[in-house]
Amino acid sequence: MYDVKSMKAEEFIADEEVRAALKYADDNKDNMEVVDAIIAKARLGKGLTHREASVLLACDNEEKLQEVYALARQIKEDYYGNRIVLFAPLYLSNYCVNGCLYCPYHAKNKHISRKKLTQDEIRREVMALQDMGHKRLAIELGEDPVNNPIEYVLEAIDTIYNIKHKNGAIRRVNVNIAATTVENYRKLKDAGIGTYILFQETYNKESYEQLHPTGPKHDYAYHTEAMDRAMEGGIDDVGLGVLFGLESYRYEFAALLMHAEHLEAAHGVGPHTISVPRVKKADDIDPSAFDNGISDEMFEKIIALIRVAVPYTGMIISTREGKAVREKALELGISQISGASRTSVGGYYEEEPEEDNSAQFDVSDRRTLDEVLNWLITLGYVPSFCTACYREGRTGDRFMSLCKSKQILNCCHPNALMTLKEYLEDYASEDTKKKGLAMIEEELKKIPNEKVRKVAAQHLAEISEGQRDFRF
Ligand code: SF4
Ligand code: SF4
Repeated sequence: MYDVKSMKAEEFIADEEVRAALKYADDNKDNMEVVDAIIAKARLGKGLTHREASVLLACDNEEKLQEVYALARQIKEDYYGNRIVLFAPLYLSNYCVNGCLYCPYHAKNKHISRKKLTQDEIRREVMALQDMGHKRLAIELGEDPVNNPIEYVLEAIDTIYNIKHKNGAIRRVNVNIAATTVENYRKLKDAGIGTYILFQETYNKESYEQLHPTGPKHDYAYHTEAMDRAMEGGIDDVGLGVLFGLESYRYEFAALLMHAEHLEAAHGVGPHTISVPRVKKADDIDPSAFDNGISDEMFEKIIALIRVAVPYTGMIISTREGKAVREKALELGISQISGASRTSVGGYYEEEPEEDNSAQFDVSDRRTLDEVLNWLITLGYVPSFCTACYREGRTGDRFMSLCKSKQILNCCHPNALMTLKEYLEDYASEDTKKKGLAMIEEELKKIPNEKVRKVAAQHLAEISEGQRDFRF
């Protein structure tokens, strides 16, 4: 029944194949010949299958694990260098008709404040985000055909792209909305979205149905096949993710990679990003009610193995995680992080009053964007606000060929430096500016192509003189 190219969820995420992969992992996790062969294959930098990666996840041989971590660091360095892309979530509305048991926006929660931003309020929020320095947003809203119809989402995207405020600009809007129709995905594509993000939450159909007892999201197949419809609608950058803690992490890990393999096999393009959220405390939600929580150590192992299994897929971690976990995760494979996030509706323009509670989850990392940038620079990472690929039409397989041809140092690196320079000129504190300018000087030398290096240096000088928005 398992068929990687099938368009039916129950065939490309066939439960019996997930279970067979876990059995294969248990049978081979102590067989060092098999483990070594898988690590050797991973060294080629072309990824691993869900079965192979599951063996490494099950393996607890310390020496082999250290090899996997070293390899994850190496792959991260080879494909992504020391750049970290920054973004912010923007919550537009927390009206929702679904009954997800792990989310405070579930329809039966009567003590949460329900809010939906007007276009004017969206403008206020976005200007506040621009004033921090953000260039890339992910818009989030609950599923509610009456309060949050597709027309509202499209209008919001148009509003966001058209705000002209000082030197600010939101250059890429990623969208995280409920599974929808091909027609609606086409409308989102035409509105100029970046990535379409939809978390699977859990791939285990039985658990999925229990965790989503009511509302349209209850339909496992419709939700799981959403990325296929998005691709049919012309969106070729899609972002996957599971909510770790709901189901057994081993099941989720294998199925997540099966989903990535399916997209590659059926559409010729794998996922653009994978997010790794863990269940967090929120209004009406107690994470200990879900008995599959994972330790920080296991979380790090999963991140390292995703990095090794799908080297071309960006990995995202949010402010759900604290500074220490984020620091480790950056080393092992994360390429994008959110900064200074507010998970309440309308929380950027003004802090939510205490009696209101419209947030989706508690934020662990509460630092300002400038503090996050300062921290990244101190750790040796180049913070990047780059959005060039999407704006140059390098999406889907064209983006993948940029990765695969290893032109990243001649493309992502100068873009990172130029967008960092914009940030330093327009928004940074004195200390961040000083450290950032010193970093740019050093990092410029790393651009291999002499012509690109010269043009980048020229643009960096022009940014000091007030010009903006250069890209390769
Ligand atoms: S997870 Fe999404 S669909 Fe479910 S209740 Fe929360 S906002 Fe609604
Ligand atoms: S050039 Fe493309 S791949 Fe590189 S950081 Fe910018 S958007 Fe990402």
